[in-house]
Amino acid sequence: MSATVIDGKAFAAGLRARVAGFAASFERSAGRKAGLAVVLVGEDPASQVYVASKARQTVECGMASFEYKLPVDTAQTDLIALVDRLNADPAVDGILVQLPLPKHLDEQEVVARINPDKDVDGLTPLSSGRLALGQPGLVPCTPLGSLMLLKDRLGDLTGLDAVVIGRSILVGKPMAQLLLGENCTVTIAHSRTRNLPEVVRRADIVVAAVGRPEMVKGDWIKPGATVIDVGINRLPPEEGKAKGRLVGDVATTEALAVAGAVTPVPGGVGPMTIAVLLRNALVAAHRNAGVALADGAL
Ligand code: NDP
Repeated sequence: MSATVIDGKAFAAGLRARVAGFAASFERSAGRKAGLAVVLVGEDPASQVYVASKARQTVECGMASFEYKLPVDTAQTDLIALVDRLNADPAVDGILVQLPLPKHLDEQEVVARINPDKDVDGLTPLSSGRLALGQPGLVPCTPLGSLMLLKDRLGDLTGLDAVVIGRSILVGKPMAQLLLGENCTVTIAHSRTRNLPEVVRRADIVVAAVGRPEMVKGDWIKPGATVIDVGINRLPPEEGKAKGRLVGDVATTEALAVAGAVTPVPGGVGPMTIAVLLRNALVAAHRNAGVALADGAL
């Protein structure tokens, strides 16, 4: 039996359409557009592509986009001063500082400086604390997008065994918190986990966020399990090709023969990340402007 391929691209398009609808009603109620500010320091090509894509999609959803491109040698104090200005600006509902920052900058200090009510990346200590405490707050985009795909596929997740491979601040840890919040029995695996294939084989839900091409094999997966592949890895180019293929952390073809459903790479979790960023910005806008938004509307 072959598994369902979870169409993250289509789900993300639906989410963006819902965001656009609520962005229009927000503008009518608040008398202004919701606003998202994105800060890029330096000229990393991948980051430039992400930032341009975020800005374009923000505008397409009917929100205001504020882009700040700073030179690679920007001083910590100048970056902090910009964050402070954006924190104080009532037209800005969400602030995203594109990571990674150039090495001479203190990423932790910059992120912690963002007003938690505008923390659309969900990475400030207060946002992480709220998630751990089960309090409302802004949640990192990639794990929240992964959870949306899981709930769309499985409905109620109560009682399911979930294994998250990876314990990063950006993906693994918040993912595990979200699954715990949905009453899953959660195991967090990492590079020191013993007998990883056996651990993964117990899981009804597998979330792979490792950064190792096709590490999770088909025979690691419990028949019928739902597999969320967060990994984005570029293989070395084949002969005659300029760029290598993008693959996830899961051997997708093998997984499809065993699992119940699998997210592809590309086209699975990837498109969800920016869609959830837009969703987070709009949720923040409603809270910041005191405009009601029904729970679970987005
Ligand atoms: P990190 O490098 O921060 O974390 C990787 C995690 O994987 C670590 O916890 C590490 O364990 C664990 N790990 C490494 N090797 C192994 C192994 N052999 N067995 C088990 N666990 C292992 O990565 P991120 O969490 O930031 O990202 C993970 C992947 O997701 C990457 O491919 C990244 O490109 C992708 N990504 C995709 C996004 C999207 O939009 N789809 C967004 C963000 C990330 P330990 O802690 O012990 O070192």
